[in-house]
Parts: sequence; C-alpha cells; structure tokens
Amino acid sequence: MEKRNAFENVLAQLAEIKEIIKLDDNIYEQLKYPQRVLEVSIPLRRDDGKIEIFTGYRSQYNDARGPFKGGIRFHPNVSVEEVKALSAWMTWKTAVVDIPLGGGKGGVIVNPKTLSDGELERLSRGYMRAIYKIVGPNIDIPAPDVYTDARIMGWMLDEYERIAGEHVRGVITGKPLNLGGSEGREFSTAQGAAYVLDLAAKKIGLGKNSTVALHGFGNAGANLAKILQDNGYRIVGASDSKGVVFNAMGLDVKKLQAHKKATGSVFGYSGGECLGAECGVGQDVDILIPAALEDYINDVNAKDIKAKMIVELANGPITPEADKILNEKNILVVPDILANAGGVAVSYLEQVQNSYGFYWSEKEVLEKLKSIMEKSFNEVWAKKEEYQTSMRMGAYALGVSRVAQAMRDRGRG
Ligand code: NAD
Repeated sequence: MEKRNAFENVLAQLAEIKEIIKLDDNIYEQLKYPQRVLEVSIPLRRDDGKIEIFTGYRSQYNDARGPFKGGIRFHPNVSVEEVKALSAWMTWKTAVVDIPLGGGKGGVIVNPKTLSDGELERLSRGYMRAIYKIVGPNIDIPAPDVYTDARIMGWMLDEYERIAGEHVRGVITGKPLNLGGSEGREFSTAQGAAYVLDLAAKKIGLGKNSTVALHGFGNAGANLAKILQDNGYRIVGASDSKGVVFNAMGLDVKKLQAHKKATGSVFGYSGGECLGAECGVGQDVDILIPAALEDYINDVNAKDIKAKMIVELANGPITPEADKILNEKNILVVPDILANAGGVAVSYLEQVQNSYGFYWSEKEVLEKLKSIMEKSFNEVWAKKEEYQTSMRMGAYALGVSRVAQAMRDRGRG
C-alpha cells in the first residue's frame, strides 16, 4: 500500500476537481496552500510538578467566504500535515453547506487519556493562550473534534475571555449550554448525517430496515447509531480503537453506549460477538459508516467492502485510491464534506445565537439544520449529475467553485 499523508490526499482531490470544473490556474495555485499555519509549544505543568512541552498547531486554510472555522483535535497522531488537510476539508465543507465561514483546524499532539483532569484543563488553557492572537469571532472560530468536547471548549472560552477582559462568546463553538452553547450541537454532526443518509438511501433504493455498521463509536458515531436505530435501521456492528462488536440481529445501541461509558470501549459488550480491531471493513452490511480517523478504507481493504453505501462521518476516511475502487464497485459514497457538515452548520447557528444574545429551542435548531442539509444534499446531487461524476466530486464541484468565486469577488483570482 502506497502510504500518503492526509494533505497529499487533499492535493490529489483538488487536482481531480480542477480538471472536472476547469478551475483557473491562479485560483488553483492558491488553493494548494493554507493561508497560515501556526506551530506552538505548550509548557504543561504535570501534577508531579515537572514541566512537559506539547506541540500544537492551528492551520487557517482559506477565509475568502468568512472567518476560518474548524475543530481542535487532541490525539497522539496529530501532525502538521493532518491539521492542514482537515483545514482544507473544512474550507470545502462550509462552502458546500453555504454558511459564511472559511476553513481552519487545530490540534495538539497528546494522548488526553494519559492526563489528569487538572492537566487536561491546563493544556487546554495553554493551547488557547498560545493561539489567542490569531483567533476571534471575526477571525477564526475553533470547536471540538476528536478527543475534545464541550467541557474543554468551556475552559478555552474562559481563558480567551480572561485575556480579552470581556465576554466573547462567539470565539468558540460547541460550548456548554450554560456558556452560550446551542441546543442540538452535541449530536448535530450525527443528526446532519442522518438527514443525508436517508436521502442517499432513497436514491439507491435502500429501505429503513437496512443494516448498518460503524467504525468509531465516539461523539459522532455513537450519536448517529442511536438516531438511526430510532429511525428503524438495524445497527449490526460497531468498533473503536480496541475492537469490534457484531450482532446480525441488531445491537442495542443504548446498552452499548452504557457499556462504552463504563469500560471505555465497545469491546467486551455482551450483546454481540467481539472481534479483533482489524475485522471492520468486510462486514456484511448495507451501509458502512466510518466514524473514526483518516485512511480507514485504503487501496488494500477497499476490495473487501460489501456495503452498498458508505457515509463518511469521519473526515478523510477513504484514500483517493480506495475511492476509485469503490466507484468501480458502484458503491455510493456520501462524502465527508457533506455527510458530517451538520456539526459546523450548528456551530454557525450557535454563533448566530451568540451575536443575537437570543437562543432557539432544540426544535428550532433542528428545523434549520434539516433545511440546510437537505438543500446541500440536493445541490451536491445536481452537481454529480451535471458532471456525471461521483458524489464526492459533485460536492467538491459545489464547494470549491463557491470558494473560488469568493476569491474572484475579492480580487484574489
Ligand atoms: P471522538 O473522540 O468522540 O470519537 C472518536 C472515535 O474513534 C472513538 O470511538 C475512538 O475509539 C475511535 N477510534 C480512534 N482510533 C480508532 C481506530 N484506530 N480504530 C477504530 N476506532 C478508532 O471523536 P468524534 O468527534 O466522534 O470524531 C470522529 C470523526 O468525526 C473524526 O474524523 C472527526 O473529525 C469527525 N467529525 C466530528 C465532528 C464533531 O462535531 N464531533 C464534526 C465533523 C466531523
């Protein structure tokens, strides 16, 4: 298997869409680079008094359509290439769902599971202090991503406001409700994916009794499993970093969530058969949902996929080589920049509520989310048809064209 980093995958996708939409060279050259990448070192005082240095990044990819926007990942495999890739995907994603934001992403190289609560808080505050000068509600707005959550966003908000000496709620999204978070944000990525999954399933004649397996059972994956089960889908497989659990009759998602909460993993759940972590892709299911990290489906394992449809809840879970294999196998891939855009869509709604100082009910937020996701799905599908291409390239055609147009409108073309 030829191993490319995530940013090389971004460039391969960009080169492909350039040919499809005949993107002009002046715009294309600029879109190959982030506008700014900051690397920071964060000194963390451990509980034993020793200081340890952690490396963090913030990549600001493109702000032609509005302030940079994107989550913060705490993970041992974070790298500058990964953060750059994720910030590029955010740029196309905010454009696909047509919200007035650009794309950014941050990360810290750390395994947060090895930190005490106090250390995690000090690291989160340290990261915000380190990037303070380049973030703000009109500059760059972070949010949660892998292994970060509302509690961490609360600490980061507090740190920012302490330095600023004023309340600036719109500087970060995915906050706790008490600090200006939005109703529905916690499960918005999953809810958005559920809306587009329904529409995509209809296009290929999959009914609500279809079987589903998820690779990754964190915030995005577990919430989606729950929503899909409530909607009538049969969740037969789920996995996380420790292993896979499978039950052809259907897993009880609520019980599985409780098991994961109690033990830290889906592995060992008694309501299904537990398999090694490598057994994920080949499961006999209708719908496969990657919900963990990049490159899960690659040129080696793509041929084993039996699913009729893949919904990319994770960012970048399929390499460009694997994409080609899946297209040849006629498997419908609903791409990340559409499928998981519900999170950033509600982050945008959170910021709107922060500016108003007026807050909507969950029902109101979800109505708005549904209309954003349905409109985006239909526009992506129309582009797919127009260019006779994959759904991914349909989404890229929509997103990259919008970014390119904003750049021309600014005289950057
Ligand atoms: P999370 O930290 O809540 O969950 C990550 C999950 O991935 C965990 O279940 C973890 O065990 C699993 N995992 C990690 N390594 C694995 C491995 N090697 N094999 C199998 N499972 C593994 O993170 P999340 O917020 O659910 O994010 C998951 C994906 O969704 C990421 O790609 C993220 O960028 C994307 N995403 C999240 C949001 C959001 O709002 N949370 C929005 C858009 C996209």
